[in-house]
This record gives sequence, C-alpha cells and structure tokens, in this order.
Amino acid sequence: RRVLVAVDGPSGSGKSSVSREVARRSGLAYLDTGAMYRAACWAALRDGVDVTDPVAAAVVARAVTLDLSTDPDHERVAVDGVDVTAGPDGIRGERVTSAVSAFAAHPGVREELRARQRDVMDAAPDGCIAEGRDITTVVAPDADVRVLLTADADARVERRRAQVVESGSGDAVEVVDVRAGVVGRDAADSRVTSFLSAADGVVTLDSSALTFEQTVQAVLRLVRE
Ligand code: C5P
Repeated sequence: RRVLVAVDGPSGSGKSSVSREVARRSGLAYLDTGAMYRAACWAALRDGVDVTDPVAAAVVARAVTLDLSTDPDHERVAVDGVDVTAGPDGIRGERVTSAVSAFAAHPGVREELRARQRDVMDAAPDGCIAEGRDITTVVAPDADVRVLLTADADARVERRRAQVVESGSGDAVEVVDVRAGVVGRDAADSRVTSFLSAADGVVTLDSSALTFEQTVQAVLRLVRE
C-alpha cells in the first residue's frame, strides 16, 4: 500500500524531526517543503533579487534547479548544484530565515513550488510524508493521513533554538532572538497559509507535553491505522 502523509504546523513544532523519523520507521520518502521555500529563497538572495517583488521572486522560483534528498537518513539540499544544506550561509542561516516568509508569500512562487512538491510526492514508489504549512490543505488534501502538529510557544522556541545550533547555522543563539524570530515568522506565515488551526478531517496533535518518541508513536499509529 502506497501511503501519503501530510503534516503541517508552525515553526518549531517539531514537524521536521518527527516527520523524518516517521519516514525512517515506515519506509516512506520524506519531503521538507520548508526546505524547498528556503532553497528557492537562497537563490533569490544569491541573485540579488528583491524578495518582496512578486514577479522577480516567481521568475527565480521557476528557473532554479532544486535537489532535495527524500531519503530521511540523508539530508541534502542543493541549489543549482551548490550544497546549501548547512552552515551560516545555508538555507537555515539567518539571511534566508529572515527573508523566506516574504519570498514564500507570493502566489507565483507558491504555485511553482507546490507543483514541484506534488511531483516529488507522486514519484515516491512506497509513499511519502510531506511537511510544511499548507500540505494538509492545498498540496495534498487527499493524503491518507493528515496531521496538524502544534506545540505551545515555549516548547517551539526551545526546539527551534536547539535546531539552529545543531544545524551549524549559528551558535550560542539567544533565546530572545529565537523567540522574536519564531513568533514573527509565524505571524507573517499565518497571513498566507492557515496552519494555526486544523482544517476539516485533519487530526490535531499537540506535542507540548509529549516526548519526541511519544509524538513519533502517535503519528505512526495514524499511519498504520
Ligand atoms: O518549515 P520552515 O520553517 O523551514 O519553513 C520556512 C518558511 O517557508 C516558512 O517560514 C514559510 O514562510 C515557508 N513555507 C511555506 N509553506 C510551506 C512550508 C514553508 O510558506 N508549506
């Protein structure tokens, strides 16, 4: 049985690490759609494009060659052949993080990247788990399992901080800066995609009081049902 799983949630909800682990344990391909927006935004910044310009942003999104590994054990994102997976100048660095919401807000950008995301999901022979902000609602509303992963602000700030340190995108990150970033990006993103409340038929999973393992188990149960 080929299974499609859609996971949405705010910044720091744990959706990336949880989805990656669920993919490992259930043999699914893994697609981080946030990484795709970040990678296309990286290309725009490389080209000196104004990320608030809808036309210029969409031109970049259509032209760029993006390579995202869907192997959950092998994280790799390349933009026009350049590895941008990690490091301060990579897709999780401060430069991209502060520009990506504006870039991702443009309809032309979203149309292009959503089509690429559907192609990735369709190409996975054994199925795929895709995570982002609009997967349960727009990219894959027909997925077999649809989950909105939430967590309270304190839990999300701490998870995001740990992630930034771990990815080598920065060290000794100030909690206040992370909080401002997380809250600000969620506010900007929620004007574009509706990931703050679950759409009809989408299961809400609040992970604030759950361990990583408990959260993974909860999603796995839905996948195996
Ligand atoms: O998930 P992550 O925080 O890496 O996503 C980076 C950015 O990409 C988000 O802040 C949002 O602006 C955009 N995004 C989006 N739709 C998605 C996934 C990410 O607009 N499905």
